[in-house]
Amino acid sequence: MKRVIFTFVACSCFGIAFSQNTISQKTIKPYDWNDRNNNPIYRSDSITKKEFTLIFLVQDSTFSTETQKKLTNAFFKVYPQEVKRFNKEATKKVVFIIDPSYEGVAAASNNIIRCNPEWMKKHPEDIDVITHEAMHLVQAYYKGHTPGWLTEGIADYVRHKYGVNNEKGGWQLTPFKPEHHYTNAYRITARFLVWIEANVDKKIVDKMNAAAYKGEYKDTLWVEYTGKTVDQLWADYAKAQAPKN
Ligand SMILES: [Zn+2]
Repeated sequence: MKRVIFTFVACSCFGIAFSQNTISQKTIKPYDWNDRNNNPIYRSDSITKKEFTLIFLVQDSTFSTETQKKLTNAFFKVYPQEVKRFNKEATKKVVFIIDPSYEGVAAASNNIIRCNPEWMKKHPEDIDVITHEAMHLVQAYYKGHTPGWLTEGIADYVRHKYGVNNEKGGWQLTPFKPEHHYTNAYRITARFLVWIEANVDKKIVDKMNAAAYKGEYKDTLWVEYTGKTVDQLWADYAKAQAPKN
């Protein structure tokens, strides 16, 4: 639960509002998403494989080199697949910052991913944080109005499909409960997308992602693509989850 709230704060921060409102406690300087925020950099690494470059900046002297290695390996395994399937125009150069002044779990915007070292220390197997956050760079829904639940649902759908360490990280799609709703976002929405894909339209995530990237998401797309509103789809999904005797 804690994770969900943290991640929601983290991931709903695309744009300027976040950088203006969050204050780094250490520096009492406005938090600047694109800046190092006066944090010293203890390790930096730049790795290029084919057309992809990952710049890894560590601003926490105690951050595990082992975890750094796992995050790096996951990036090069997953990010090219995300770009290939969802957005070939996505940035090929990603800056990943282990940032002790960032207070959420992790977040992504522009070509930067920030990750809180405390979270990784407590959850060293949660490597697919990078799978989820890197997908936000691929999504780049900077135009139009895509609902946050869909943005986060797609990022967790991708983590479910392409994640390299989900099982060890204790991460899985949330088992269905009648009180759930598609607007709950994250793993609840991701599970719904998996169901739509398997039962209604196997290209649904690709189509919604393409529309959102172009700034053309609208609720009526669900009807256009599946013949049903998202509420009707959810009702069908909920019905299909009922235990069968
Ligand atoms: Zn997110």
